[in-house]
Amino acid sequence: MKPVTLSDIQAARLRIADKIERTATVRSASLSEIAGVPVSLKLEHRQTTGSFKLRGASNAVALLSPDEKSRGVVAASTGNHGRALAHAAKLEGVRAVICMSRLVPDNKLAEIRRLGADIRIVGDSQDDAQQEVDRLVRDENMTMVPPFDHPAVIAGQGTIGLEMIEAVPTAGTVLVQLSGGGLAAGIAAAVKSISPATRIIGVSMQRGAAMKASIDAGKPIPVTELPTLADSLGGGIGLANEYTFRMCSDLLDEVVLLTEAEIAAGIRHTYAVEREIVEGAGAVGIAAILAGKVRLEGETVVLLSGRNIGMGLHRSIICATWTNDEEINP
Ligand SMILES: *Cc1c(COP(=O)(O)O)cnc(C)c1O
Repeated sequence: MKPVTLSDIQAARLRIADKIERTATVRSASLSEIAGVPVSLKLEHRQTTGSFKLRGASNAVALLSPDEKSRGVVAASTGNHGRALAHAAKLEGVRAVICMSRLVPDNKLAEIRRLGADIRIVGDSQDDAQQEVDRLVRDENMTMVPPFDHPAVIAGQGTIGLEMIEAVPTAGTVLVQLSGGGLAAGIAAAVKSISPATRIIGVSMQRGAAMKASIDAGKPIPVTELPTLADSLGGGIGLANEYTFRMCSDLLDEVVLLTEAEIAAGIRHTYAVEREIVEGAGAVGIAAILAGKVRLEGETVVLLSGRNIGMGLHRSIICATWTNDEEINP
């Protein structure tokens, strides 16, 4: 396995430049005061499709051969990756098939259909959906674009790291969401290549943090998936993980885990003070600062990774004053 390098990420940046937004990095007065160091927010939740996943998906689609493009791409994600792949494929005139189980809520299904993808509904679980993906790869020669464990996807997400270090060249600490690790691996590879002393801290939820458990175990291990406000951070890293496990093990300086109440407080602060709407996953960097769970050295950049949260759930979090985990049922 050859890890993703700075030159892969720089090439990805050129390849996707006209397909994605270069999102802003802005200083947060309130968080700077709370943290005692200058804190900036990378507003990637404003990316087209509502999350950074468009960067990796766009890079992966752009790297397909003409032959592969003619046969189309396929994935089993119903969340932000599914949206991003549907959008990226449509832009290139490539057919996208998104496979999902019968249990997927109508609003998620409608959004992916609106973005122009073919939807294949199979079985009652994500595993059944993945089997249909495998069948389409086998029988119809389609190309699977996975959500994180793929060099082109990691390089695409890494372009965020280039933008962060250009906006804040003296950054001492970067806070980044951690689930399958495509995001954290890409950003860490970019930032550490340019600024080796910058610390990269991964942030996840306590409920089912697969990468943290795997790093601690020294190999990819399965975790029980639990409902969480940070739903985009759920799921395993794959027992046959090829890229992100090694890169995250090598490049992350620390991983911190948050309770549901801490994540809710992050969403609330982001809305009430920063005036931004983020989903649970998008808020974990801010939440980690508010919870005092990270030691920040020097100027700090915090990633807001996505904004795809149901309005009803968002409103209930904003209006509530939860103080402990038992009161929260996402
Ligand atoms: C996918 C996702 C993440 C985590 O990215 P990984 O590459 O799986 O670690 C974080 N935030 C949002 C909003 C996401 O959609």
